[in-house]
Amino acid sequence: MTNNAPLITRDGVIGYDAAEIITVDQATGAEFARYAVAGKDEATTAVTAARSATGPWWDLGFEGRAQRLRAWRREIAVSGEEGAALIHAENGKPLDDARVEVLGALEHLQYVIENAERVLGRREVPANPTTSNQRAWVEYQPYGVVGVIGPWNFPLLTPVAIVADALAAGNAVILKPSQITPGVTEWLIQTWQRAVPDLPAVLQNLNGYGATGQALIAAGPDKLAFTGSVATGKTVAAQCAQTLTPVLLELGGKDGAIVAEDADLDEAAKHIVWGAMQNTGHGCISLEVAYVVESVHDEFVEKISELARHVRVGSDTDAEIGPVPLPGQIPIIREHIEDALQRGARATVGGLDAVGERYAAPTVLVGVTPDALAATEETFGPTLAVVKVTDTDEAVAHISAGRYGLGSAVFSRDRGEDIARRLRVGMTSINDALVFSMNPALPFGGRGDSGYGRKQGEEGLREFAWPHSFTAKTGAAHFSASTFGRPAGAMAAALATVRDRILAEQDTDTTH
Ligand code: NAD
Repeated sequence: MTNNAPLITRDGVIGYDAAEIITVDQATGAEFARYAVAGKDEATTAVTAARSATGPWWDLGFEGRAQRLRAWRREIAVSGEEGAALIHAENGKPLDDARVEVLGALEHLQYVIENAERVLGRREVPANPTTSNQRAWVEYQPYGVVGVIGPWNFPLLTPVAIVADALAAGNAVILKPSQITPGVTEWLIQTWQRAVPDLPAVLQNLNGYGATGQALIAAGPDKLAFTGSVATGKTVAAQCAQTLTPVLLELGGKDGAIVAEDADLDEAAKHIVWGAMQNTGHGCISLEVAYVVESVHDEFVEKISELARHVRVGSDTDAEIGPVPLPGQIPIIREHIEDALQRGARATVGGLDAVGERYAAPTVLVGVTPDALAATEETFGPTLAVVKVTDTDEAVAHISAGRYGLGSAVFSRDRGEDIARRLRVGMTSINDALVFSMNPALPFGGRGDSGYGRKQGEEGLREFAWPHSFTAKTGAAHFSASTFGRPAGAMAAALATVRDRILAEQDTDTTH
């Protein structure tokens, strides 16, 4: 270890000059692995190599890229257990939850393999009267080099959903993972190198802390996709603004669940407890607050408390949720619980004692006021705040007034869609939790402080390509709108013709 090598501190982030990352085996707290930190030179070298790989990657065409992505998918599937073990070690989540990340990554790849050409292939568009002598179409061209900066909570699934879109759209990608989980990305890059040995520079990684992320942006990628906290997202967006580098921001959330008077309470309780506690609550789309209509409130609280009490915490094979890998999160979880209790809430499960040094056990807070931190700010822990509301309108108003706008859930037998449609959020599961994230065909992203832009679905593929519009003359124009040779009176006649047509349409409308 060099003298300026980092020490593992309570924040998990050590400082931007450190030459090495030391990762932790979350099950034991012991040192797991060391990685050299990349700086400006490595970032510049990576961007240069990526840029030179973009031509050959684009020249493969959609089918050629799909072949390589299929080979990559196979390689990830074959060594998926190795990837899951790394996620389990570095992030601490149960091995089965780690396997879910590998499965999700394979599904995202499948979606782009099957859909990139349909979504991004050449698209003919109709002519209008002025351009009736033209053939018009749109082609989607890759940005070039895409920088992807990722978080630790879903160290494989979150970046792969973005990387899959960017690669299928024809870009080369440089991935800067979280300093807490670099080993997962190292493994991912190795699967790429085995699957696509002729084009290794199409997918590269840079290990490091925030400064490495800054160096990556400074090295001049053509697009940046950032997933992480709101505070860092704003810094990243400000840096990207200096060069007008377009940026996708996938930030935090405070996702709410609405439990209506006609909800199936057993179903709602099962899904909401899982949606709140899974992955130790470390999910941008974790359900952190339940707005429950008063007529069903007490019964619902009984059901969730019973379920939450039995969630098993630890690092052994029985554990359903793991430790808190970012020590700096512990005081935030504690602060939110304390604030809610001080404002009159009570804990039916857990409470302040549930938050230890490396683990946090489930906490259910009832009687939470809508202005409490546990109802307004991202907790990122296994804590569920319950707010009693008079009706679903009040619940919709609370969620829509929040500064975030990522996911949500609505539980109602008859009115789910109507309630969901009124929410100012990016995604909603009706009578279920978090499942919008499990369908790669659905665009994923938020509003407000949850960021902007989309990954996944058609929107995700288009996020990583710019439209290039074409129009080509196919014959002589009735009169030329694009030269100084317009005949006298032509524009007056054209305007009169259009006016008469619009008036005729109006007449038809009023007779219906
Ligand atoms: P973070 O903001 O601390 O770090 C995210 C990444 O940014 C890391 O790789 C970090 O090294 C890097 N970074 C830090 N400072 C930087 C800088 N100045 N310039 C460039 N890069 C920099 O977030 P985190 O703790 O790793 O992740 C948790 C957060 O991510 C939570 O808020 C969670 O809600 C959010 N998240 C959002 C989504 C989503 O899709 N919306 C998905 C997962 C996580």
